[in-house]
Amino acid sequence: HAKRMGGNCFKFYSTDLPGPKADRLQLENELRKAIMEEQLQVHYQPKLHLASNLITSVEALARWKHPTRGILPPAEFIHIAEETGLVLPLGNLVLRQACSQASQWLHSGPTPIRVAVNMSVQQLRQPRFAAEVAEILREADLPAHLLELELTESMLLEQSSAVADNLTALEEQGVKLSVDDFGTGYSSLAYLKHFPIHSLKIDRAFINELDEHSRDSAIVRAIVAMAHSMNLQVVAEGVEQDSQLAFLRNQGCDEVQGYLISKPVPAQVLTQLLQHRQANSKADLPATAR
Ligand code: C2E
Ligand code: MG
Ligand code: MG
Ligand code: MG
Repeated sequence: HAKRMGGNCFKFYSTDLPGPKADRLQLENELRKAIMEEQLQVHYQPKLHLASNLITSVEALARWKHPTRGILPPAEFIHIAEETGLVLPLGNLVLRQACSQASQWLHSGPTPIRVAVNMSVQQLRQPRFAAEVAEILREADLPAHLLELELTESMLLEQSSAVADNLTALEEQGVKLSVDDFGTGYSSLAYLKHFPIHSLKIDRAFINELDEHSRDSAIVRAIVAMAHSMNLQVVAEGVEQDSQLAFLRNQGCDEVQGYLISKPVPAQVLTQLLQHRQANSKADLPATAR
């Protein structure tokens, strides 16, 4: 394998050369600066509520407007943020931007919309996190039920009282909690007993190859049944094809998210999408219902 790479193969084997480490340090410094200067931008991806055919919530996804490399997705910088602790100021910035945007949609239209923000476990370990969220909501003038926090299974299995206390306090404030990438983390479902979870987001891995006969379809069917019997909402992520949507609709999945509905887009683009959908759905209703 190394031979086939010819004269450059040393690049792939040396770890003590200055190149990659220096690149990383540079990226870390750039990221720190980007957070301080608020060069991070939040994109929004809608979730479609199937029963009403309405977009009632969106997920906030961090993007970095890098000065020379263009708009970077989280895969390019979240791991650095996690390793350096920068994920705390980054997460705070995303939360504030998302809440302020949701407040605009609520107060200036076109329609109230819940915003879901991805969490890092480091945020949940901060003893004052729930209080900070309350402050951010108050500053943004956003009611708590219009904020949702997306957690992963590993966060819910942490044996840390700070995490548990934060989640309890957040739920008491009215903030919604959901489990992201559901089904990929741990086989323990015990946390569903202990935490006030509002919805499960089925991981994209189960949606990719959905067809009537696959094992994935059995898994999805079982997740929907379990969630509904526990009074939880079910969201499917990564929906790209009409056939996947049809299957999920048939199974009673509550909301879907994916490129089939829309890619993550800047706030103004989502506002236009909402205006457009609203105008069209009104036209579909009988005059008395408008
Ligand atoms: P996630 O929370 O599971 O978000 C879903 C990811 O799937 C997003 O990638 C989204 O753009 C992508 N996606 C949505 N629909 C489709 C589809 O139909 N097909 C395919 N192939 N992909 C789809 P993105 O924006 O690159 O984010 C990746 C991950 O980064 C997120 O996964 C989340 O774990 C993390 N992340 C994003 N923003 C934040 C943040 O503000 N804070 C933290 N801590 N993590 C974040
Ligand atoms: Mg998410
Ligand atoms: Mg997800
Ligand atoms: Mg995912």
